[in-house]
Amino acid sequence: MTVKKDAVVEMHYTLKNDAGEVLDSSVGKDPMPFMHGRGHIIAGLEKAVEGMKVGESCDVSLAPEDAYGFHDKEAIQEIPMEALKGIDKLEVGMNLQSQDQHGNPVTVRVLKITKKAITVDANHQLAGETLHFNVSIESVREATADELKHGHVHSASCSH
Ligand code: ZN
Repeated sequence: MTVKKDAVVEMHYTLKNDAGEVLDSSVGKDPMPFMHGRGHIIAGLEKAVEGMKVGESCDVSLAPEDAYGFHDKEAIQEIPMEALKGIDKLEVGMNLQSQDQHGNPVTVRVLKITKKAITVDANHQLAGETLHFNVSIESVREATADELKHGHVHSASCSH
């Protein structure tokens, strides 16, 4: 069968940036399982693997607008130290849970720490990057009734 809506797919992937540096890869580990057509992987990649068969591979380049969006200067903000009570250890590069202006939870990355404030960035780490994926389809099967009901893949290590 081919990769189609609700199929359970195992895929190997290698992700490089424009400079050709490997940012992430499943090679040497277990392939990544996902249920197709459910937004479990980024939309541009999902579109590219639609219709592929086991053993096929392809290269997919995604512009920022099809991947994690553009870098937004507005998403870089200062948070005064007094708003950070309860956090013992702050380090540049660490992720913090914060809220956007609508009160939705958002993960921000610490860019800078001074005595009075920290600077955080709510942009995705890959915002503004063109992503170059090489993917290969390792297996494709029909989802079980339970998987369809839950909307995710059940593996051997799954607790339910
Ligand atoms: Zn489940």
